[in-house]
Amino acid sequence: MSKLLTLDESIEVQRTVHEVFAYVSEFSRIEEWDPAVARAEKLTPGKPRVGTEFRIDMRVGFSLHYEIIEIEDDARMLMAVTSKWFTACEEILFEKSQAGTRVRYIATFDFPALFATFNRLFPGVMDRVGKSAMAGLKEALEDDYAVPQASGLLATADRLVIPGIWRFTKLGYRASRKRWNAVSAYQRGRHAVITGATSGIGEAAARQLAALGARLTLVVRNEDKARALVEELRSETGNDQIGYELADLSLMSDVHALCDRLLVANQPIDMLINNAGALFNPRQQTSEGLEKSFALLLLSPYILTERLHPLLKQAEEPRVVNVLSGGMYTQKINVDDLQNRLGSYSGSTAYARAKRGLMILTEDWAEHWAEDGIVVNAMHPGWVDTPGVETALPGFYKATKRFLRTPDEGADTAVWLATSSEAGKVTGEFWLDREIHPSHLSDRTLETEEERNRLLESLRELAESTSPGAMSDAPAGLADSA
Ligand code: NAD
Repeated sequence: MSKLLTLDESIEVQRTVHEVFAYVSEFSRIEEWDPAVARAEKLTPGKPRVGTEFRIDMRVGFSLHYEIIEIEDDARMLMAVTSKWFTACEEILFEKSQAGTRVRYIATFDFPALFATFNRLFPGVMDRVGKSAMAGLKEALEDDYAVPQASGLLATADRLVIPGIWRFTKLGYRASRKRWNAVSAYQRGRHAVITGATSGIGEAAARQLAALGARLTLVVRNEDKARALVEELRSETGNDQIGYELADLSLMSDVHALCDRLLVANQPIDMLINNAGALFNPRQQTSEGLEKSFALLLLSPYILTERLHPLLKQAEEPRVVNVLSGGMYTQKINVDDLQNRLGSYSGSTAYARAKRGLMILTEDWAEHWAEDGIVVNAMHPGWVDTPGVETALPGFYKATKRFLRTPDEGADTAVWLATSSEAGKVTGEFWLDREIHPSHLSDRTLETEEERNRLLESLRELAESTSPGAMSDAPAGLADSA
């Protein structure tokens, strides 16, 4: 004998029906708003449609299988739910209301006799579960979270190094994610430019942003890889607003040409993610005469971001996200040797110095572009299992492999900084796992104002001297000045 139980709950939020439907219909995001859900996964690629399936793991230890059986854009979705304990039919209705949107959730559970008895003994349990889920959804859609604050405790742990460093592993990611808020900010049509998008963290960021419906310009070196990735992302997410631009970002002629093309296309940029990177051992020089870590990790994002400023300024809520590294904590900027010529060369030192330089730029852009509404932040992805790490640091990779994060976990904070309303309230900070961390752990790495100014001046001069006009008239070796 089975027993039917019906829940009928409604909420009202000040958001458009279209935005609310976009968020809720990607039903795996239930893990952000239903406190009873531990994990959720979309099992079917593409936009939500009849036949799209989701797996929802409940905190109490069992899983639910959802399948969309009817869906009408911006109006309703009906899902069949199966689990080892019960079956259910869940309908979510979206309706324009005076406040914005009314969301009504109607669920009819079909319990076996045993559960019917449980429900008789503990009346109201299911009701409370339904109510707390809808309260969670309301909070997620209201999207009115407090301004994130730096934590003194985190900063102290960072300074003590050992208590701080475990956070770089997947354990740190998992501990932090318990404290995160939902991200329901609407992304469709927002334009993201992502460098280094064909591998590791950049590829994961591209995939996450594609799933959110953002319009993507992927900056890549290899055209075959670019084509394959665009195809893959389109079919996985149903997002057809994905394109690419070719550029070797260690060559400033390519960086300038890329900027020229983007400026001619004149599409406002809502998110610029400076992610491309590599670690070079031994020291390498580009065909333009620049040391490669400096060229790729510092001068290239400098030129790209500076020159794209007009397109960032045109966007409604522009964000720049610079992908840095905890390695930055070990180095001070050396303005007298930006290209790592003096002493014996170390790839890790050159890499860390360039990341330190990009942190300085993050703070400078944040300060000077605040009046244009451009939010600029930097982040550490943690230690992530990517082809880049495996190739550049094989010993470290082998020793830490078990503790490395997935590329999706590594990309999370970059995507959050680019998309969430919460992150738009803070500028010029260094983040790990959606939390602010100090940009220096010791005074030893602090630059003086004079060093900061000299860095900016050197980069400005190199940006000018490597611009197409200047390159054609320049005497050989101009790039050697820094
Ligand atoms: P990855 O090698 O998997 O990806 C790097 C991407 O940058 C690739 O798409 C590559 O093609 C691109 N790239 C490299 N050189 C380029 C060039 N000259 N022109 C254009 N594109 C170029 O590495 P990843 O680990 O995903 O690294 C991404 C970013 O994260 C880097 O900035 C890296 O410094 C940073 N990071 C990674 C880790 C980690 O543990 N993986 C830790 C800290 C910081």
